[in-house]
Amino acid sequence: GGDGVPGRVRVAVRLRPRNAEESTADADFADCVELQPELKRLKLRKNNWESETYEFDEVLTEFASQKRVYEVVAKPVVESVLDGYNGTVMAYGQTGTGKTFTLGRLGEEDTSARGIMLYMETIQDLLDPANDNISIVEDPRTGDVSLPGATHVEIKDEQSFLELLRLGEAHRIAANTKLNTESSRSHAILMVHVKRSVLGEEVAIPTESDKSSHFVKPPKPLVRKSKLVLVDLAGSERVQKSGSEGHMLEEAKSINLSLSALGKCINALAENSAHVPIRDSKLTRLLRDSFGGTARTSLIVTIGPSPRHRGETASTILFGQRAM
Ligand code: ADP
Ligand code: MG
Repeated sequence: GGDGVPGRVRVAVRLRPRNAEESTADADFADCVELQPELKRLKLRKNNWESETYEFDEVLTEFASQKRVYEVVAKPVVESVLDGYNGTVMAYGQTGTGKTFTLGRLGEEDTSARGIMLYMETIQDLLDPANDNISIVEDPRTGDVSLPGATHVEIKDEQSFLELLRLGEAHRIAANTKLNTESSRSHAILMVHVKRSVLGEEVAIPTESDKSSHFVKPPKPLVRKSKLVLVDLAGSERVQKSGSEGHMLEEAKSINLSLSALGKCINALAENSAHVPIRDSKLTRLLRDSFGGTARTSLIVTIGPSPRHRGETASTILFGQRAM
């Protein structure tokens, strides 16, 4: 995994607890996974006797608190953003396994459990939903990605930030209702630009003679710019193409395309490949500055315990493994 290595992806897996239905209907069946958090290992059951063992950078059980998840998954990224590097936290997994729960929920009083979302699909501005045709512009020289049509709001304090997040979340729900789709059929992205003034590194230390001259140059302030990106990906479950038609089929294709493009990019990073195929989808173009260089990226893959979804759980685990 990318522990402490910029440009590589750190991968954590998080298991959500059984829900009420799974606790009753599947009461007689064992979970499809067994976690060994101290060993950072996960065992995926094949049958009653055999299991496959996988290693991750972090293994978070159903008992892991939101605070613990923040500390091991997001905090290192946030800290590096404050140091001036781009940082990304992505949640990948089947619908209903806790991606949105992990990236945070809005409107909850407990600060350890609240969250976010600014959504874009083809690409829609969640702060101005009428604006649903935003283009991506890449600076050919620096590789920086910008969305010239999208709303940028300067954040004054925590309260106004939370209000903005609630507005984005409300627009996300409204947009999905209008499209008659579920939030799980789109990617939601929040970008926070951070500008921080720091003292210049090349500040001259005053010498004895400077002091005696009564004139010491003030240190040059340096502005560090960086970006924190949170990505609540569309549900990774295989969409049945057969039987789907029209809009549903287009939707299925676009989700499969963007998630597989994302997988290929993360894969290329893990393998230190010179070619990261970012151009294959809008999602990967948008995340361009999350791949490689000094960027720091954490991927959290979320899974459920139900033996019924063993197939989807296995494919989520493999996506995470390929990223390491
Ligand atoms: P997703 O965004 O992946 O579709 P959600 O975040 O909406 O999934 O989670 C589905 C349901 O499971 C929600 O009711 C959520 O509160 C619950 N849930 C998810 N993860 C956890 C967890 N770690 N602990 C408790 N409840 C969880
Ligand atoms: Mg969700």
